[in-house]
Amino acid sequence: MQHGEGRIAGAADIGGTNTRVGLIREDGKIVRIEKFPTPVSGNAEDIPLAIARALMDIAGDIPLAGLGIAAAGPLNIREGILDHPPNIPFDFVPIVAPLKEATNLPVIFQNDCRAAVLGEVCAGGARGYETVVYITISTGIGGGICTNGKVITGRGGNAGEIGHFPVDTTYNLTCTCGLSGHWEGYASGRGIPFFFREWCTAHDLPCIYSTTPEILRFSATDPRYAGFRDALAQVNGRGLSSVIVAYDPDCIILDGTVIQRNPDLLDQALVYTDRYLDLPPCIFSPLNGDAPLIGAAMAVFHPKMI
Ligand SMILES: [Zn+2]
Repeated sequence: MQHGEGRIAGAADIGGTNTRVGLIREDGKIVRIEKFPTPVSGNAEDIPLAIARALMDIAGDIPLAGLGIAAAGPLNIREGILDHPPNIPFDFVPIVAPLKEATNLPVIFQNDCRAAVLGEVCAGGARGYETVVYITISTGIGGGICTNGKVITGRGGNAGEIGHFPVDTTYNLTCTCGLSGHWEGYASGRGIPFFFREWCTAHDLPCIYSTTPEILRFSATDPRYAGFRDALAQVNGRGLSSVIVAYDPDCIILDGTVIQRNPDLLDQALVYTDRYLDLPPCIFSPLNGDAPLIGAAMAVFHPKMI
């Protein structure tokens, strides 16, 4: 296989539905990507073994510098396991030990949002910035922070769980974590339908839309529901304000299907974003949803950054 110049790492991004694997060059360029359904019906060990098989298949005789693995938190990077993952029906999924044993390669394991910020800093929209916050607004809301060439990991690899910043005390929606008032519970792809329903009840309007794409599309054009857009903008503005005062970033990278497909959500949120600290540039990720996968590989080439 032609793969150009430079070293190549294997990478995987483990999702609840699909796992994506890829070969990534040191400069962040993708050599090849494949995906397969995450095996959730047998044993937990099937997941790392399927990753090892898929990566060895696509690598063929290409020598790999190592493997970088990203998965949604919470995870335990010290033990190299997924610990009660929210979207995979196993209590624990061993990752690092079985992958090392199956491939004889070094394995670096990270939370997907921490991997994504590394991908943006090394090969995406955040090149050249010193303190960077990556925010994904997708099914959930997550974040990754990199400052002076180092990703903030925290005790267990879970620092930057910005989706659980408190943003509201009026509607008290329950978040996926079980607590109430958190950003993810209102403005994520999963949270928006619940927020919309509560907002409609509070404003005596029929809740005629039920999916996040419908709600976002019609609330942008149906004047009866324009107030929902405003309520959502306030929540997003509070989330962004908290990010800015917590990390004072030079640059914020926005990613995730909800915000990428509805970029007007950013303009609306910025109206409600506090200006206590200067607003940094807010840039949409140029990596087409591949930031976690590319960043997982970058950790192999730049281990001192994590
Ligand atoms: Zn929460």
